[in-house]
Amino acid sequence: MSFNSLGLSEALLKAISKKGYTTPSPIQQKAIPPILQGKDVLASAQTGTGKTAGFTLPLLHILSNNPKAKYRPIRALILTPTRELAAQVYANVREYSAFLNLRSTVIFGGVNQKPQVATIREGIDILVATPGRLIDLENQGLLSLKRIEILVLDEADRMLDMGFLRDIERIMKLMPSKRQNLMFSATFSKDIRKLANGILNHPVQVET
Ligand code: AMP
Repeated sequence: MSFNSLGLSEALLKAISKKGYTTPSPIQQKAIPPILQGKDVLASAQTGTGKTAGFTLPLLHILSNNPKAKYRPIRALILTPTRELAAQVYANVREYSAFLNLRSTVIFGGVNQKPQVATIREGIDILVATPGRLIDLENQGLLSLKRIEILVLDEADRMLDMGFLRDIERIMKLMPSKRQNLMFSATFSKDIRKLANGILNHPVQVET
């Protein structure tokens, strides 16, 4: 299978070839088609499988294919458990969106919020965030999740392990209920299934 046959746009194929990828990884082959169809997806994926491109590429395809409001409300939220992962996912988003007219940024705790807030004010389409800082800025009225179209929970099992369940539940209430949900997790405990049941609508299950 090739990236061309997955239905991704020319701009994305260009970014993919710039990265030097020739073949989609198994998780990418299985997750990208249902995501492009607008379905909710529950995927089991370890780090190192190419899961980040598995959700980022179709997310960028969907956003760039739909007309955008001039003032750029945040349309996609990618939640990660740690700032290291947030920074890593954001670096991927930047690379894959190199040839697209989409703006993104990353927010996490432990650093000054001012530069993060300034970038959000300029208008961004995609936000990569850790739960604590996201809630913090939302509470201060510095960002809105009311126009979110796509939500990604990356490494959902680690988020639960780190005690983010309450935060995740709070964040869900800040978004419109009509949206596409993607959940990636390395393990599938009872708690993860429960979280998935509460968030995902008739998800396509993807295993590798
Ligand atoms: P991830 O599991 O998302 O952390 O990705 C693991 C590594 O695989 C990263 O360094 C990616 O740049 C790389 N990668 C992702 N997709 C592909 C692909 N289709 N072909 C080759 N490398 C890839």
